[in-house]
Formats: sequence, C-alpha cells, structure tokens
Amino acid sequence: MSTKTLIKSHKRFKEEYGEKNSGLFQELVENGQSPKTLFISCSDSRVVPNLITYTKPGDLFISRNIGNFVPPFDANSEASATPAAIEYAVSVLNVDNIIVCGHTDCGACKSLHLDIPEDDIEMTHVRKWLKFGESAKEQAIAFVGNHDPKILYAATEKFNIIEQIKNLLTYPAVKRKVAEGKIFVQGWYYHLSNGELEYFDPIEHQFLPVADSLKKPQTHSQE
Ligand SMILES: [Zn+2]
Repeated sequence: MSTKTLIKSHKRFKEEYGEKNSGLFQELVENGQSPKTLFISCSDSRVVPNLITYTKPGDLFISRNIGNFVPPFDANSEASATPAAIEYAVSVLNVDNIIVCGHTDCGACKSLHLDIPEDDIEMTHVRKWLKFGESAKEQAIAFVGNHDPKILYAATEKFNIIEQIKNLLTYPAVKRKVAEGKIFVQGWYYHLSNGELEYFDPIEHQFLPVADSLKKPQTHSQE
C-alpha cells in the first residue's frame, strides 16, 4: 500500500469512523487513557490487535515487536522499548491484564532456526533481538525434533509464548501484582488463516480454544 493510498484511507477514516466516534475521541482526550489490558504481540502486519479483539481506541495498550518477545528484566539494558512499555502499563496505567499474543507462520520464530551470518551488518539488530527466542527454539527442537520444519516452527511459536510469559514475570512490578492477584496474565496463539485464537492453559499445559478459558476460574499466573 503506497503512502498516497494511506493518505486517502486516512481521509475516509476521518469522514466515516472519526465522524461516528467523535465523542469517544473527545472523551479519551479529556479523561486520558485508562486501558485495562497490555497487549504484547508480534509486529507482523497480519496480526492486528484491535481488529482481532474488536476493540476501540483507548481499550488496549499495545507493545509490538518482532516475535512478541519479552526481554527478561535487566536493569542495565539499554534497548528497552518493550521493558519500558511493560513498566509503564503496569506501574502507571495499572492494567489488570497482560496478553502475550503469538501467531502461526511467525517469521521471527522461523528465523530462529535459520542462522543469520555474523558479518551481515544490515541485520545486526535483528540477529541480536532474536536471542530472546533462543530458549523457545531449544525447547521446540527437544520436544518435536527437527525433521519436519512445519511442526518445528509451530512448536517454536507456542513455546515462545510460554517463555515470554516467564520472562514477563521477572519484572518486579509484574511479579508482585501477579502474586497479589492484581494482574491476570494470559498467552494467546492467533491463527492467521482463520482468525481462531487459542490460549495457553497452564494447568493442562496445552493450547486450547480461547473461549474455553471463560469457563474456568481465572488464575493470575500462567507459570
Ligand atoms: Zn511474528
């Protein structure tokens, strides 16, 4: 989609959506944002958090990155866009929920299995960033082997969600609020082909249709 097309689409957005929702926009400016959910997802263009949850401006505080990774808490880290988003959402916005949403056909998870040459300077940060998926990669190989790439990639995507939730719980404020029952954390797996969502059930230790989680009592930790 070209910039020209995007500008035309914006005009349409203002005329149609903006017109219909002017009250909401005004209210969000006057009262500020108070989203209840931090949504951590992949940057993949096919994963659109507000669309798949049918939510409005002001509903989700969104942090997107390649691979929906959550770097483990590190007070000395300098590349900290995702950690800053987590801390802000938890300590300033006081969100009640954190969703880590992975997806099928994830390029980042696939890339974990394709070594990027050390001397490729144009992929320096991608290579460094992918280290946050290493543990998922190792667990997937140990669990399903590496004979069938399709099965291996899908397993990596799922282990990645579980691993990133564990990383999330290394943040002091997240850990404390989960222990106090003030934050609910859940891992989601979104299917690009049909829009289906699964969630990670920490008791059954498997991914199940997300609607099933509504029938169960909410636990505040997914570990
Ligand atoms: Zn992805």
